[in-house]
Order: sequence, then C-alpha cells, then structure tokens
Amino acid sequence: MNDCIFCKILSGEIPTTKVYEDALCFAFLDIEPLAPTHFLVIPKTHIASAAEISGDMEAVVGHIYGVIAKLCAEKGVTSYRVVTNCGPDAGQTVGHLHFHVLAGRQLSSFN
Ligand code: AMP
Ligand code: ZN
Repeated sequence: MNDCIFCKILSGEIPTTKVYEDALCFAFLDIEPLAPTHFLVIPKTHIASAAEISGDMEAVVGHIYGVIAKLCAEKGVTSYRVVTNCGPDAGQTVGHLHFHVLAGRQLSSFN
C-alpha cells in the first residue's frame, strides 16, 4: 500500500527497531512507548483495520496472538495487554492492522 507507514517499515523504507519477524508478521518497538514494554505486531499483508479481518487473515491473527505469547514468554513478561484500535473514535491513527503489546507498569482499567 503506497502511503502506509507500516508497509514502508515492512519494505525497509522507514527504519525501525525489529523485535521479531516471520513469513506472516513483523514486530517492532513503538516509536512513542506508553509503557516500559510497548511493541507492535503487524501482518505482512496490508489490511486497514480489525474490521477487515476475514478469510485467510483470521488465521494470521491467530498466529499473531501465538507470536505475542511466545515473545512475552521469552522476555519474561507474564502480564501484558494486547490492544487493537479500530477506527478513529477508538484512536486508530495508522491504517494498517496492528496489535499493541503493553507491559511493565500497572495499566488502568477500562471502566
Ligand atoms: P494506533 O494509534 O492504535 O493506530 O497506533 C499507532 C501506533 O504506531 C502509535 O502508538 C505510534 O506511536 C506508532 N507509530 C507510528 N509511527 C511509527 C513508526 N515509524 N515506528 C514505530 N511506531 C510508530
Ligand atoms: Zn500497510
């Protein structure tokens, strides 16, 4: 996708700090961390948001959750939050599906 900053990270056009990569997904540090641990996991296939998850992408999302569990276990992170903002009212600012992984501090409740 031409104007997508996360696709540009995938192509190497925009530099980032890589956390993990495989055939289906890529993980990198968030540039404005909101917690001591804050990385993003994205599918290598561009889709705009969680609202577009269907078909083959459903399995990719399951794979991403497995990768998150593995990465957190490797880092010794036993308590963490996975967040996907979908649409502007939810705070989505980048139009490429991504999963925030936040840990390392007490996170506020949603209520
Ligand atoms: P969201 O607001 O849920 O769409 O999340 C987008 C996230 O992408 C934010 O937490 C940003 O800090 C992060 N972000 C934006 N540009 C970059 C970049 N070039 N490298 C790493 N993280 C980025
Ligand atoms: Zn993209």
